[in-house]
Amino acid sequence: MLVNEEIKLDYSDVLIRPKRSTMSSRGEVNLERTHNFLWSKKKWTGIPIMSSNMDTVGTPAMHKVLSKYKLITCPAKHHLKKDQGKFKKGKANICWFGGIDDINNLAKTASGFIGLDVANGYTIKFVDAVKKLRDKCPDATIAAGNVVTADMTQELILAGADIVKVGIGPGSVCTTRIKTGIGYPQLSAVIECADAAHGLDAHIIADGGCVNSGDIVKAFAAGADFVMLGGMLAGHDECDGKVENGVMKFYGMASESAMSRHGNHNAYRGVEGKTVEVEYRGKADDTIKDILSGIRSACTYVGATRLKTLSKCTTFVRVNNTHNTIFGTE
Ligand code: 5GP
Repeated sequence: MLVNEEIKLDYSDVLIRPKRSTMSSRGEVNLERTHNFLWSKKKWTGIPIMSSNMDTVGTPAMHKVLSKYKLITCPAKHHLKKDQGKFKKGKANICWFGGIDDINNLAKTASGFIGLDVANGYTIKFVDAVKKLRDKCPDATIAAGNVVTADMTQELILAGADIVKVGIGPGSVCTTRIKTGIGYPQLSAVIECADAAHGLDAHIIADGGCVNSGDIVKAFAAGADFVMLGGMLAGHDECDGKVENGVMKFYGMASESAMSRHGNHNAYRGVEGKTVEVEYRGKADDTIKDILSGIRSACTYVGATRLKTLSKCTTFVRVNNTHNTIFGTE
């Protein structure tokens, strides 16, 4: 047994120091990025924020709104088998995720990115699945995860992933850290995995743990090429679910709610997610505008005219993690 004494950080453990800037308005900031992918050799341009492939937020209606802003939708897995046609708009802005058993279905998807998404991306079986998907789809842009360390980021890239999905345990409805004790503070995971991926000309998605636009900014500043959101997009008109007494249900894909809905129960598979009620927030459009304006504002504070340069312009300062508290009441 070893103990790593190095401090590892979450989004709430840091702030970004403001810097002198020649910019005069948020309107000058360009949030679009162009990514060139290592194996597929394809190019993508857009705002690199994605909806999580969860039942509640990975919906056709969410895709309609997100694609308006050139954001990416990851449809919930159940759409892969039967409803691909419902995701009509901006097909380049879709990333279809599936599990190891979905390789054939993924190989048949005609548009966007494809990806393999499992709770634990550390198994040999998973690495073999990534290799298999790459063999079947040499020209596809492939994402794979989840992992949280540089070694496994490199392994997945060498197995054929263009993009590695990073995050174990930070999700708002995830209980992995509580149930298993496994996890890694998300800001450090993003910094370390981005460094490993960029060294190989590959990319990463920072998946989970963002609770406000400041966290999304920190993820990009830490080197994330894409940021994936679940909880921040929950509670909107475009989500799957009903509004009851001013709240909507939002559940993890390893929760009892998801397992019952999709019949995924088996003897070995425990619940590692929860169901929560989130406040109903109306149209996703308003939330997206608010998120994008937060990121633009952050870029002006550090003098980054493009999202691309945000990371270079960033100096994080460590803080005690009470800075999210409003007047000490939360
Ligand atoms: P959020 O943005 O809500 O903080 O995190 C969303 C991410 O949480 C998802 O993209 C996915 O990686 C993760 N996630 C979703 N459902 C579950 C679950 O039931 N259990 C765990 N461990 N993680 C989940």
